[in-house]
Amino acid sequence: MAKIGFIGLGIMGKPMAGHLIRAGHTLYAYDVVEAPVLELLGQGAVVCKDSKEVAGNSEIVFLMLPDTPDVEQALFAPDGVASGIRAGSIVVDMSSISPIATRRFAEKLRAMGVEMLDAPVSGGQVGAQNAALSIMVGGKPEVFEKVRPYLERMGKNIVLIGGNGDGQTCKVANQIVVALTIEAVSEALVFASKAGADVAKVREALLGGFAQSRILEVHGERMIKRTFQPGFRIRLHQKDLNLALQAGRELGVSLPNSASTQQLFTAVAAEGGIDLDHSALVKAIEKMASHTLGEGKDR
Ligand code: NAD
Repeated sequence: MAKIGFIGLGIMGKPMAGHLIRAGHTLYAYDVVEAPVLELLGQGAVVCKDSKEVAGNSEIVFLMLPDTPDVEQALFAPDGVASGIRAGSIVVDMSSISPIATRRFAEKLRAMGVEMLDAPVSGGQVGAQNAALSIMVGGKPEVFEKVRPYLERMGKNIVLIGGNGDGQTCKVANQIVVALTIEAVSEALVFASKAGADVAKVREALLGGFAQSRILEVHGERMIKRTFQPGFRIRLHQKDLNLALQAGRELGVSLPNSASTQQLFTAVAAEGGIDLDHSALVKAIEKMASHTLGEGKDR
């Protein structure tokens, strides 16, 4: 059994770390917020005072943090991973962050004798709780093989995409599909509702046809039942679309619908919804239609 570090115990990190504890590993945990760390303490984790202490005790250090600056801080601040880690250890960043910064972080760590994988995930809170995440990995194949048994405790569809940063590039592509599908489902349901149809029945019917998707199933239900507590925050999806739009600009790839969907997220955020689930994008479409889902069915 291994000594494992886990930094960032939020909506995703806490259940993922729990799977590693239940697999019998010794887990050294840290989060800037104390409450989730204390919950893991109850499950058998060793609580550390900072990322440096986590790294000093661990053969493999997993990170599950919100954004690129958070990962940079956890790795390279004076009390960060890099100041405590030993040569030969491995860092596995499962956060969704910039592919370009990821390559830079991997190079800095490699100069210290530490290998890094980027291993962002898809599948949301439910996937994290059920150990059913899709995991998109970038890094050296031999490092991937060493870490694979631990990733298998947290996910099901685990694919080595290529070198450092390629896992993050894959995740950005994933977030484009998810954002645009949420937008499409929002338009379809608001359209059907204002036309007078029962949206719950519309969703049910569409789930059996070519328009079927996990987004229609899970987020369509959230939109109809108005369950917008996260889940996946609009704040985080805006971060991911920013990564897409910045990289698209650098690469000369036009992403017109990613850009317009980002504006719709901004509209919901402007109304105070930045920490709602990303399915709350439907509120922007509803506002433009002057209609809320469900209003039409009593007509
Ligand atoms: P979250 O905000 O719930 O959790 C992040 C945790 O990191 C928080 O507990 C925060 O206190 C902690 N943290 C921040 N900076 C830190 C630091 N420097 N050191 C230690 N701890 C620190 O976010 P989440 O929803 O768990 O998402 C984490 C990552 O996973 C994000 O990159 C997100 O895009 C990605 N992701 C989330 C989902 C989802 O459905 N929530 C799905 C797939 C991918």
